[in-house]
Amino acid sequence: MSGAPPATAWREAIIERIVPRTARISSFYLRVPWPGHVAGQHVDVRLTAPDGYQAQRSYSVASASGASPAEPSAAATDQASIELIIDRLDDGEVSPFFHDVAQLGDAIELRGPLGGHFVWRPADGGPLLLIAGGSGIVPLMAMVRDWAAMPPATASPALLICSARTWEDIVCPDEWTALQAARPDFGFIAATTRGSQHRDTDITRRLDATLLRNILTGWGHTPRHAYICGSNAFVESVAGGLTAAGLRPEIIRTERYGG
Ligand SMILES: Cc1cc2nc3c(=O)[nH]c(=O)nc-3n(C[C@H](O)[C@H](O)[C@H](O)COP(=O)(O)OP(=O)(O)OC[C@H]3O[C@@H](n4cnc5c(N)ncnc54)[C@H](O)[C@@H]3O)c2cc1C
Repeated sequence: MSGAPPATAWREAIIERIVPRTARISSFYLRVPWPGHVAGQHVDVRLTAPDGYQAQRSYSVASASGASPAEPSAAATDQASIELIIDRLDDGEVSPFFHDVAQLGDAIELRGPLGGHFVWRPADGGPLLLIAGGSGIVPLMAMVRDWAAMPPATASPALLICSARTWEDIVCPDEWTALQAARPDFGFIAATTRGSQHRDTDITRRLDATLLRNILTGWGHTPRHAYICGSNAFVESVAGGLTAAGLRPEIIRTERYGG
């Protein structure tokens, strides 16, 4: 690594690609001086209005870390393209800016990567249980992408459970179904609360303790690490469900997006 800025330094990021993922969620690829990150970390984004008013929000990094477990900084470069995935909240301040105002080539202020608790490195191993509510999938995407990049013989099983209103509200479902088809040690379950069942293995009700217990029994592995991300209410409910289902609280890490 040569000359990459410290994570805490505000710097300019350029929007170089925008990819719609669902009706209200899009990926924003930002080119930015980047010191490298660990899956699960986030950035802070700061917008400044012409009158000086500033708004700052956090967004998880969806990109794989690209770092090898042996040499965490090996892939760090001065410049990187990082993927943020932002859910448009109708009454929000910053997320509608990204969806309605931001254009390719625009510059925004960013600092990061930040956060040292809600992270997973390939060396941390598994089995790995990842549970997302809505856009809470973003940091878990980075973890799955890092997991998928490991040599299969060295990876422990991983299970990704995505809760969303409908199948169409799930971010990048094709990536998860393709990985599931390619890797028997990767499981993907969609838990939709309003839509119809998409696949036989999907679920059409909220994740509660009974359901989580059944899923874990069906999976057949005892998680070594469990990560939950989503709204406050979702995280609270799923964390309670997992402990009721017998998981030790020490193995459960949570990230709350608000709401
Ligand atoms: C560590 C961290 C990582 C995050 N990563 C992501 C990410 O990858 N993608 C992403 O889309 N968001 C992410 N968030 C949430 C993000 O920081 C903002 O809170 C969100 O974009 C709303 O900002 P806003 O300015 O549009 O809305 P605000 O003006 O802040 O809020 C508008 C209204 O929406 C409510 N609200 C705020 N957040 C949520 C929510 N998540 N769900 C439901 N209601 C909410 C508020 O209570 C308020 O009523 C993350 C939050 C944290 C703390």
